[in-house]
Amino acid sequence: MDCIFCKIVSGDIPSQVVYEDDYVYAFRDISPQTPTHILIIPKEHVDSAAAITPDNSVLTAKCFEAIAKIAKVEGLDSGFRVITNVGKSGGQTVYHLHYHLLGGKDLGVRLV
Ligand code: AMP
Ligand code: ZN
Repeated sequence: MDCIFCKIVSGDIPSQVVYEDDYVYAFRDISPQTPTHILIIPKEHVDSAAAITPDNSVLTAKCFEAIAKIAKVEGLDSGFRVITNVGKSGGQTVYHLHYHLLGGKDLGVRLV
């Protein structure tokens, strides 16, 4: 499978890693939309949030455990936003499940 995020997990493509455990890999987005913009992904390939099932939903729980830890380390004490884009209409460009962790400024009440 030709998946850029699987290649980041394997180290074939370099990344700025901020957190890693047995299930999760997190790295800085190459094109940050906010002062802090980190991508949290399961190491195991899942296409998107539309492909979460009882068999793999533990991976999403692990991603959110990581998000809570990363937010503390990154000093996002006043808050942050987590977004996952799904499919063409959802604006997904990389088809490996990922959560955008956005923060470091006041994000306001609108979506973006
Ligand atoms: P999405 O549009 O939700 O699928 O998000 C994909 C994200 O991956 C975008 O924010 C890109 O900037 C980011 N991205 C793509 N390639 C890389 C890379 N090699 N390293 C870090 N982030 C990347
Ligand atoms: Zn993948």
